[in-house]
Amino acid sequence: MADNDVTTAVTLECRFCNTKNRVPIERALKDLPAVKCGSCGIGLLRVHGEPLADVTDDQIAHPFDREALDTLKKIPLAATIIEKLLGSTIDKLARFRMMANAIRVGPKQAPRLWALYLEAAGRLNVDPPPLFIAQTPVINAWAMGAGQPTVTVTTALIEHMDDRAICGVLGHELTHVRLGHVTYRTLVILMLQGALRLLDVFGLAGMVLKPIQIALYRWYQMSELSADRGELLTTGSLEQFVRTQMTLAGGTARWADDLDVAAFIEQAHEAEAMRDGDLLLWAMELLSSSERTHPLNVWRVHHALRWAQSPEFFQALAGKAAPRAISG
Ligand SMILES: [Zn+2]
Ligand SMILES: [Zn+2]
Repeated sequence: MADNDVTTAVTLECRFCNTKNRVPIERALKDLPAVKCGSCGIGLLRVHGEPLADVTDDQIAHPFDREALDTLKKIPLAATIIEKLLGSTIDKLARFRMMANAIRVGPKQAPRLWALYLEAAGRLNVDPPPLFIAQTPVINAWAMGAGQPTVTVTTALIEHMDDRAICGVLGHELTHVRLGHVTYRTLVILMLQGALRLLDVFGLAGMVLKPIQIALYRWYQMSELSADRGELLTTGSLEQFVRTQMTLAGGTARWADDLDVAAFIEQAHEAEAMRDGDLLLWAMELLSSSERTHPLNVWRVHHALRWAQSPEFFQALAGKAAPRAISG
């Protein structure tokens, strides 16, 4: 479907009484919990934390992400690098780094954060890997590792975001875990941080060829679009999603009331109009000089909005209707 080809309404089957409801998309997006079944009056969309057990990977993953990841997996060299480098030493080092430097969250440690994590994991049907809080002034969150991933949020993120926003961000990271992104994303981060100089130690110098790097950078951006969809599904709130991205891009706690969602959305569409492939790659290179693992927030809002305006988003939130009773 072309970008300007916007569907205006979607037919949703009530998961309780099986009545088909015609829902106007734009109006529904303004208040998703208010979308009710015309017959039984129950909310048509699952926006209050209930598990979305029937939602499939194909419903969440952005087609760009799927395509690019399939291409990456076919590059034999990339697989070798990941196996030799990430599968063993780097993975252990990364885990040790978190265990030794950060706080591991659990039922007794930061239980409020833990509860939000379990909510997001339950909603997205993901077995939650270990969660850590790292002390840094950069608002950030990431999932790292090869075979055994870990998820980390920074202290700045907790300080700048409310519980719903944090739940959404955790859902974003858990979507990376669910869709099998973490190993390849770890490779990108290591590449950007210059850690692949370690390849020399493993006798693999020169293996990360430019074409592989470029393919990885392109996919990295596309994997964000998928995780953003997971984030939208976690909270079931478009406004929450946009606010979070605005906070990541340049939000301040002090002037939070001064930040305008509508103006940021306008900016997002302008950013999409400016996009070209080389510009995105260049933006990735810039990451190497920052601690941020989630770039291009404004650009991503454009894509998340497009998805939220699609029947696919509404169908995922509506879920499957109960099987009909067979009479006679
Ligand atoms: Zn109903
Ligand atoms: Zn991400």
